[in-house]
Amino acid sequence: MENNVSDKMINSCKMTDLTVEEMLTTERPIHRIILHCTADKEGVDNTVEKIRKYHVEHNKWEDIGYHYVVYRDGSIHVGRPVRKVGAHCVDGNNNQGSIGISYVGGLDTKGKAKDTRTPGQKEALYRLVHDLLLIYPSSDVRCHNEFANKACPSFQIGTFLDEYGQWKAEHPDPLPAEEPEEPVAEVAEESVVENTNDTVDNNVKQDIANEEQGASFFEKLLSFLKSLFQPKAK
Ligand SMILES: [Zn+2]
Repeated sequence: MENNVSDKMINSCKMTDLTVEEMLTTERPIHRIILHCTADKEGVDNTVEKIRKYHVEHNKWEDIGYHYVVYRDGSIHVGRPVRKVGAHCVDGNNNQGSIGISYVGGLDTKGKAKDTRTPGQKEALYRLVHDLLLIYPSSDVRCHNEFANKACPSFQIGTFLDEYGQWKAEHPDPLPAEEPEEPVAEVAEESVVENTNDTVDNNVKQDIANEEQGASFFEKLLSFLKSLFQPKAK
């Protein structure tokens, strides 16, 4: 499997409560992330529960079509589990191998296509796409309107990728090597302290040694001088 992403890396940018394990599926290969809108009018909220009800009762699908739904407040909600094929882009057989993300909105108050993403929704989309690309690095990011004659998601992929690139530049990925560096630094610090102590000890020992040497020198000199004045035994 292509995945070697840690929860720590995901947590740096993620906005869902899902762990990597929960976002990861090994049951079907993922190679594409497709962006949608829910076709709600500007300023109108929607929920996974309501969308699910419509998709199941009206469309006769087994579950909500999208894997993730981004609410107007910027919160991310799980729809259909990623391990299951979604129902969001039948065109070009694009439900297979893809993850469908939909933001609530996409229409103006008169019902015409409009990019109604709130700042919170934009941020959430960047973060979610970022995390999914960490987990499925061989995926591309596309818009529904690239495959179907529809306005969905009411913006062009070029617009999104430009925004995302700028956001990425402002949010560089955390370095995976950060973790092991800390203990090494601590050890190094300790050993410096130990070395300092050693140096102090060695200096003291050296001083003592010098003193001892000095003392023995004077003792020898003294005993030599004494010997000069001592009457020689006859
Ligand atoms: Zn769509």
